[in-house]
Amino acid sequence: METLDRDTARKLFEHYRKHRDGIRNEPQMASICLICESIHIVPKVGDPHMLVCRNCNFAFYRYECGVCGKTVDGRDPRNPACHECGLRICTCGACGCPKAESL
Ligand SMILES: [Zn+2]
Ligand SMILES: [Zn+2]
Ligand SMILES: [Zn+2]
Repeated sequence: METLDRDTARKLFEHYRKHRDGIRNEPQMASICLICESIHIVPKVGDPHMLVCRNCNFAFYRYECGVCGKTVDGRDPRNPACHECGLRICTCGACGCPKAESL
């Protein structure tokens, strides 16, 4: 993952903290914590669907949809939680439920 410069990170943080719709479409938001503004984000050990902030330990969903390939981000209101499988629902309607795999 590329390291963001502080200015870019700050602008993205300020913007997406207020406008969460769109986080999923911004590749650099994979490297910015929306809680503490840290850019030290690493994959969560033992969970391939999550990333975790090394500074504040906030973990969030961020992964590629297995059906359409778009990014799914748990901080984005367009990717709500699925109460069946526990993953997030992609804008294409897929989540971790088995029915999604046959689409
Ligand atoms: Zn953080
Ligand atoms: Zn999808
Ligand atoms: Zn599901």
